Amino acid sequence: MRGKMRGVQRSSTRAVGATSLRFAGSSGVLGVCARGRSALDRSVIGLCSLALAALALCATRRAAAQDRPASDAAVVAPPAPTPTRYAIEASLDPTTHIVDGTLRLHWVNESAAPAVDLWLHLYLNAFANDDTVFMRESRGQLRGVRNPGRGRIEVTSLRTDAGVDLLPRARTDLIRGDATQMRVVLPSPIATGDAIDLRIVFRSHLPPVFARSGYVRDFHMIAQWFPKLAAREPSGVWSSFPYHGMGEFYSDFATYELALSVPTGWVVGATGEQTSEEVRGGRVVRHFRADRVHDAAWVAWPHFRERAVTHEGVQIRILYPPGHDAAVPRHEQAVREGLTRLGRAFGPYPYRTLTVVLPPRGADGAAGMEYPTLIVSAGPWMDMPGIHTPVPEDVTVHELAHEWFYGLVASNEVAWPMLDEGLTQWATSRVLADLYGESRSAVSLPGLTLSNFELQRLFALHGRPVPAPGLPAYAFDDTSYGRSVYLRTALVLETTRRSYGAARFDRAMGHYARAQRFRHPTPDDLFASFDGVFGGGFSDRVLRPALMRGETADARLVRLSSVRNSAGAYLTEIEAQREGTLALPLWIELRGEHGERRRLPWAPGVPRYRASFTARTQFTAALLDPDRHNLLDADALDGTIAHRRAPSRAVLSRLVALFYAMIAAVGA
Ligand SMILES: [Zn+2]
Repeated sequence: MRGKMRGVQRSSTRAVGATSLRFAGSSGVLGVCARGRSALDRSVIGLCSLALAALALCATRRAAAQDRPASDAAVVAPPAPTPTRYAIEASLDPTTHIVDGTLRLHWVNESAAPAVDLWLHLYLNAFANDDTVFMRESRGQLRGVRNPGRGRIEVTSLRTDAGVDLLPRARTDLIRGDATQMRVVLPSPIATGDAIDLRIVFRSHLPPVFARSGYVRDFHMIAQWFPKLAAREPSGVWSSFPYHGMGEFYSDFATYELALSVPTGWVVGATGEQTSEEVRGGRVVRHFRADRVHDAAWVAWPHFRERAVTHEGVQIRILYPPGHDAAVPRHEQAVREGLTRLGRAFGPYPYRTLTVVLPPRGADGAAGMEYPTLIVSAGPWMDMPGIHTPVPEDVTVHELAHEWFYGLVASNEVAWPMLDEGLTQWATSRVLADLYGESRSAVSLPGLTLSNFELQRLFALHGRPVPAPGLPAYAFDDTSYGRSVYLRTALVLETTRRSYGAARFDRAMGHYARAQRFRHPTPDDLFASFDGVFGGGFSDRVLRPALMRGETADARLVRLSSVRNSAGAYLTEIEAQREGTLALPLWIELRGEHGERRRLPWAPGVPRYRASFTARTQFTAALLDPDRHNLLDADALDGTIAHRRAPSRAVLSRLVALFYAMIAAVGA
């Protein structure tokens, strides 16, 4: 390309690659690094740190937090209870790592059709053998960690309140080798509006900590641990699926009452608020209750330290390992800022409690995960001594953002993981950008900044092509899941925001989050909110092509010529070419010898741009997308043409881009 440009230009015009370094965006790629959902993610953690360390000296200092809440006293109204209720009594044996439980389930059929069966998820069975759907799809690893051992759940009794034994009617052999779903054919259908009461006795064998659940030494992360109903759509269809290698979960809202028995002295964190506590035979039973949530998890460890604070009416518990007191203030600050900013953008956090778990060393398999009112962040050891990186805050804010995009806006995480991970990735980046300033970036040296959105772009758009982010989770492998579902979604959203206006974009996203609270939205609901603000057809032109079909918006400058004519004026000609099919408005900025600037609009849908005009000014440089709106351009290095030699940072930008392109290629 650059060779061609030299051929058609009059002087020593050449393309330079300064643009990718000129515009600092918000943090984001580190969220994926720390999320660590894939092997690539894991390598990214190290490489991000390496890049930060190698390029650094760049201990980016936090800007003073802005927009602090005026008061912590805001009242948060609790959500209304739902008719469906899970009451679970459970007891943890810390030596065998077994949880014995009894679930009393009151289920109300709120769908439009009678229920002839029930579908329960027994997700710990994902780790029961090598032939489960999870083990086959993931090849026995998650986040680059091999499965270290078995886990399973047994249902030993399943009866109605009237004593009818339903266990003989239950089948788990629905998929070869996989017992993560149980279908129970009912003796008689449950009509719309009617209820059934069940008593289910179960025994959960926790695995060595892996894929979000399990134990290491005496630390226990108890998740996906009880028989839980699949989500039932309003039409009466059960949206049940096995525990997949990619993607997560999907359930209906319910009230949860937990009675959790642990040895005396053990600390317990759980979904909901603790209502009471009692001592029974050398053990302590803690009672928790949560209204209108769609899952419940808990953590138990005798060595936790605890910090309890209140922010805007929310009681925050931070549970952390001994010796890591210094890490707590950063997580606390991230949670406080996140609650305020996410609440402002997407509606207030409606629950009274939030528990933040910093897992101990060795429990990485439990880290970076969200549950209703309980999040597990990264271990406090993740920060690099002496160099400030935003990794700890990034993970905490990411998991906190899931309280909205997953917790409150409860989309199907396997059918459309974009709606939880992608929106969360974008929201996290926005929160951190607002918190630390848009100019805060992954690299901050005198004369050189490199934004994290730009890093996301390099990861997402280089290397092997990936499926469109709007596809189901099982369409992806470990690497493409992170690059597409997380990063590409975030880039599409941020590009849309920058290109079409932040205020309107934020209004549309806020409308989606509020309108779909306590619902199970689909991408169509997201697009409807955007069409409501931007006008009908907007999503069909912009969001659907980018998110559902993976269209890109590559564009490049082809030619700049500015030649003096006989009258002493300059005839300037500029040409540019779109390589991607996504319709985005773009601008080209021409720069004159003495600092003059002229901006030319490039309308969406025009593949080849040509313009010529005569002026007294000789334009010696051209810059495509000068405000750096388009983060969907894989090669930002072909967006500048300049007569003069490029500044040294352009060379560095190429090296950085090459570095990340190589990482992406290796990861792919
Ligand atoms: Zn996430």
